[in-house]
Amino acid sequence: MYVEEPDEPLQRLQERAIQGNTMSDFDYESLLDRARENIPQEISSRSRWRLPEPQIMIEGQNTIFRNFNEVVSMMDRDDNHVYQYILNELGTSGSRDGPRARFKGRIPPKRIKKTIVNYVNSFIKCSQCSAPDTHFIKQDRTTLLKCQACGATRPVKL
Ligand SMILES: [Zn+2]
Repeated sequence: MYVEEPDEPLQRLQERAIQGNTMSDFDYESLLDRARENIPQEISSRSRWRLPEPQIMIEGQNTIFRNFNEVVSMMDRDDNHVYQYILNELGTSGSRDGPRARFKGRIPPKRIKKTIVNYVNSFIKCSQCSAPDTHFIKQDRTTLLKCQACGATRPVKL
């Protein structure tokens, strides 16, 4: 069960969550947008592919990714694969808690955002045309990432 720290008013917690979203040295949106740059016109004119801004809060000795499920639902990938990838990248343990993911330790929000961008680059983005419209296919023992926009494939290690 998730409990707000009782001595801290909700508004301050929200302000802190918002502050965590302003990145000076790491621009989540522009990195994701870059995934759109080289896509053929007829595809890029479809609704823009965006991930919700992660809402990340430090709570005691834990870090809470408040809208984990919401972010992952936009990725069209197995949520547990994304979750395990983030844990590995952060080198920590954690737990799922309803729509949230909880990580052990006080982890800067930008590190978590970076793992999401890394995931997108590794497992979603086409390396040829940068479209995010991709899916996994099996070929013998290899898993390939196949792009629905340009048809390119590349091997991925799941
Ligand atoms: Zn492609």
